[in-house]
Amino acid sequence: MKDSTSQFSIRTKHLSLFYDDARALKNINLSFHEKQVSALIGPSGCGKSTFLRCINRMNDLIQSVRIEGSVLLDDFDIYQAGVDPVKVRQHVGMVFQKPNPFPKSIYDNLAWGMKINGITGDYDELVEHNLKKAGLWEEVKNKLKSSALSLSGGQQQRLCIARAIAINPQIILMDEPTSALDPISTTIIENLIEELKQNYTIIIVTHNMQQAGRIADFTSFFLLGEVIEHGPTSQLFYNPENKKTEAYITGRFG
Ligand code: ADP
Repeated sequence: MKDSTSQFSIRTKHLSLFYDDARALKNINLSFHEKQVSALIGPSGCGKSTFLRCINRMNDLIQSVRIEGSVLLDDFDIYQAGVDPVKVRQHVGMVFQKPNPFPKSIYDNLAWGMKINGITGDYDELVEHNLKKAGLWEEVKNKLKSSALSLSGGQQQRLCIARAIAINPQIILMDEPTSALDPISTTIIENLIEELKQNYTIIIVTHNMQQAGRIADFTSFFLLGEVIEHGPTSQLFYNPENKKTEAYITGRFG
C-alpha cells in the first residue's frame, strides 16, 4: 500500500455514510498529510467518530451502515471489492476513548496482539521496543507478567498505544483518547502523540479545542455530517474562513 512519493497518507473522495436512511456523513473530501497530527473537532453527534471509523473499515461491523465514495490509503481504495478489512486494520491502528487492554498480562497484551496479526520475531525484544516507544517501559519493566488491568487508566491507554504500534501501522486513529484521563496522564499522552508523529500519520477526534490547538498540525471542523473547514490548526483557530467555524471556535454554539 505504501507509496513513498505520496504527500497524503489518506484521502477521502465524496465519502457519504448512511445509518439505514439517516445520512451521517455528507460528501466528505479530505486529505491528511503524512506524519502529521490532524484533529477532528465539532459538536457532539456531527459525525467525527463515524468518519474516523470509515478509515479502518470499523463501520463494516455495523449492519445498518451503507457507504458511498472512497477512502484512499496511498492511492489504494480500501473499499474496493476484495479488500480484507482485517488487513486494512493492520495498516490503520485505532485507540479508543476508554482504554481497552485485553484481560491478560502486560507482556501478553503486546505479544498476543502481534501473534494474532502475524508479526514474528523475538517477542521479548519487540515487547520492550514497543513499550519504550509508548513511553511505558520504565514503569512496567519489572512487572510484565502482571495483569494489564492493574495499571492506571493513563498507563492502560499507553499500553493500548503500544499494542497498536506493535502491529506496524502507518496510521493511528484516536477517538478522544484522553477524555477518560486525569490532566497529568493527558499531558503524557499528548507528549507521546507529538513523538509518534515522527513515524505515523495520526488522526484524533477531540472534544477539547485546547488539545487540538496544542497537538494538531491540521484541524477539520465537522458540523451536521459535513466538513465546514479544514486547514492548518492556527489558521482555523485564529483566522477561520467560515462564519460557522468562527462561531464554534469562539464558543457561540456546540
Ligand atoms: P460524533 O463523533 O461527532 O459525536 P457520531 O459519529 O458518533 O458523532 O454520530 C453521528 C451521527 O450518527 C449521530 O446522529 C449519531 O446518532 C449517529 N450514529 C452514530 N452511530 C450510530 C449507529 N451505530 N447507528 C445509528 N446511528 C448512529
